[in-house]
Amino acid sequence: MTGAPTPATLARLADVVGPSHALTDPAAQLPYLTEWRGLWPGHSPMVLRPASADEVSRLLALAHETGTAIVPQSGNTGLAAGQMPDVAGTEVVLSLDRMSKVRNVDAAGNSLTAEAGVTIKAVQDAAAAVDRLFPLSLASEGSARLGGVLSTNAGGVNVLAYGTARQLCLGLEVVLADGRIWSGLRSLRKDNTGYDLKELFLGAEGTLGIITAAVVKLFPRPLRCDTAFVAVPDPRAAVDLLARAQSATGNRLVAFEFLPRLGLEFLIRHMAGRDPLSAPSPWYVLCEAADAPEGSLETLIGLAIERGLATDAVIAQSAAQRAALWSLRENLSESQKFEGGSIKHDVSVPVSKVPEFIAEAEAAVARFLPGARPFPFGHLGDGNVHFNVSQPPGMDKTAYTDMWEAMNEVVFGIVLKHGGSISAEHGIGRLKRHWMSRIKSPVELDLMRGLKHLLDPKGILNPHKVLPE
Ligand SMILES: Cc1cc2nc3c(=O)[nH]c(=O)nc-3n(C[C@H](O)[C@H](O)[C@H](O)COP(=O)(O)OP(=O)(O)OC[C@H]3O[C@@H](n4cnc5c(N)ncnc54)[C@H](O)[C@@H]3O)c2cc1C
Repeated sequence: MTGAPTPATLARLADVVGPSHALTDPAAQLPYLTEWRGLWPGHSPMVLRPASADEVSRLLALAHETGTAIVPQSGNTGLAAGQMPDVAGTEVVLSLDRMSKVRNVDAAGNSLTAEAGVTIKAVQDAAAAVDRLFPLSLASEGSARLGGVLSTNAGGVNVLAYGTARQLCLGLEVVLADGRIWSGLRSLRKDNTGYDLKELFLGAEGTLGIITAAVVKLFPRPLRCDTAFVAVPDPRAAVDLLARAQSATGNRLVAFEFLPRLGLEFLIRHMAGRDPLSAPSPWYVLCEAADAPEGSLETLIGLAIERGLATDAVIAQSAAQRAALWSLRENLSESQKFEGGSIKHDVSVPVSKVPEFIAEAEAAVARFLPGARPFPFGHLGDGNVHFNVSQPPGMDKTAYTDMWEAMNEVVFGIVLKHGGSISAEHGIGRLKRHWMSRIKSPVELDLMRGLKHLLDPKGILNPHKVLPE
């Protein structure tokens, strides 16, 4: 059990990092206590900004001794409020944002070692500087940091070819709840020497340990990218196109995203977006192949149009055109903010079930709240649909977002019926923990609680997150 830290405990914690990195002033704390959606405010007696694994170790040893709750935070772009302290104001935030060094880039070994607070953009840039690719790519990459993406097992647009953050991680350095440092910063591709401990901390959302550094995989950079924006009649055609594109490009497809017409309309209305095609279409696919046989994507699209799987398409002819097509995808989330409340469902189902899922969920939402506007988009190649629903025009925003849980109930029911997941990318955090006893078996929950107890016996790490009470 944790309790409110005493002034003496706070003074000892502040001593470790120095007074200028132990924030108590509300204005200085604000960026750490406000999350992206503005839905889950937090209060904290102190935000600590350590500069090294050694300082994190000393902080956790103190927190362990005094029963002080610690909330790890990296870039504060998480969408499940896992990085937010609670509103009671008893939990101390530990930010990794000062630990932002790239320690080593090994181009020949295709690996990079960096501290947890380095941004994903900085990792990508460090890789590019030695002609290598760090393929994790997401719209929040300028702010999201390595510790956070590993702790949420983030996905993004290139999972189809390179996997999620978990698959990109070779080694970790972790500070345990009692302050011990586990140094597992290995860059080995093969290491079958017992349990793979890093797996415990990847996707654990800061409940089992604090990641202070990591070794990640790099890849050769593709020599050429072919990017196409394709109008498709419906999600079934899009799934069919996906399978054909994988074959036609010799398995060189690296991204396959989809969006509805409503998405393009929001972009045009609010984000100065331009329709790349001359006639409207109910659905669109944005796909990219890397080093595919020259002309293969073009040939595929021609055939798809002949067979009615697509109605029109544009293939980027320059880096600027490619960037313009990708900006449509990247601005989609932001564009919804201008249309009032949006109730989110970051879900996944088997790829082949996506069309059924969308049809059933759209029908169920129409019954639940006539006029609500489903806005399903996302990583079709991974079966990951961001089934966001914008409020009916003119409805009071708060009255709408008060329906969040009830609408989740409607949509998640259909996800579970299709063998899907109610959190494909964003994790459980504070937002979805009450679902855990409904989606995990008693055996799974027992194992999870056992691991938590083993690694954090006093429950100081990110309390009230992930596991149900
Ligand atoms: C515009 C936008 C687009 C996004 N797109 C995607 C997307 O395509 N795919 C995707 O997967 N996500 C996406 N996200 C969600 C978010 O960017 C990711 O979840 C990201 O991985 C969070 O990283 P962060 O550094 O901001 O972590 P934070 O928000 O700081 O923390 C997230 C969680 O990890 C824990 N944590 C943070 N650092 C550590 C650490 N060092 N050790 C242990 N635990 C830690 C926190 O306690 C919290 O539970 C998006 C978010 C936004 C705002």
